Amino acid sequence: MKFDIITIFPDIFSGFLQESLISKALKKRLISIRTHYLRKWTTDRHQTVDGKPYGGGPGLVMKVEPIMKAVAELKRGASGATRKTRVILFSPRGKQFDQATAQRWLKYDRLVFICGRYEGVDERVAEYIADEVVSVGPFVLNGGEVAAMAVIESVARLVPGFMHDADSQSKDDHAQYTKPEAVVIGRRKRSVPTILLSGNHAKIAAWRAKHGGRRG
Ligand code: SAM
Repeated sequence: MKFDIITIFPDIFSGFLQESLISKALKKRLISIRTHYLRKWTTDRHQTVDGKPYGGGPGLVMKVEPIMKAVAELKRGASGATRKTRVILFSPRGKQFDQATAQRWLKYDRLVFICGRYEGVDERVAEYIADEVVSVGPFVLNGGEVAAMAVIESVARLVPGFMHDADSQSKDDHAQYTKPEAVVIGRRKRSVPTILLSGNHAKIAAWRAKHGGRRG
């Protein structure tokens, strides 16, 4: 799986690419992650990627042309695999990203992510350039870079070979405990549920099924 990220802040990704399972997967060539500096596709001396919004209003909006050129070039680079490239724009107004989306995107060879900044991106990118517009949650971030990292982690961990333990891809969505068996928190002793110490796999599975899913 190839991830191509169009951004005006490529350095945000440097730590992300160098640590933990992502770094190992890159070394094993299970995935590739490339950042692309959007200003490369500008033509003016100031490398302008933004402009004032039509109709007035505060702030700046990211221009369509540099993004259009960047996407076109990345698609050309994908040669025969263009058919299997999916272009994603991050926006708080997009469709909510979820596990089913991560699973669905595995069928593509390449995901191209467009990271917005400022007051957002010229709407023509959503309408005519991106295949999908995606939000990572009902809140507003400063830019799409953090959204891209969250999405990359969730898709990459589904790539065969990414996780050490294939099981943990599907079965880790329940309450978990490790040593010590008992610990004093505040003034009270808090212990691991005894069923998890029982060695009875059927009962443990039932307990986990009951204690799966979201908290809160
Ligand atoms: N009002 C603007 C809009 O609706 O797009 C907010 C722009 S936000 C400050 C700048 C960029 O951050 C967006 O263009 C988008 O790429 C990214 N972003 C912000 N919140 C996001 C979210 N919840 N999910 C995905 N991307 C987000």
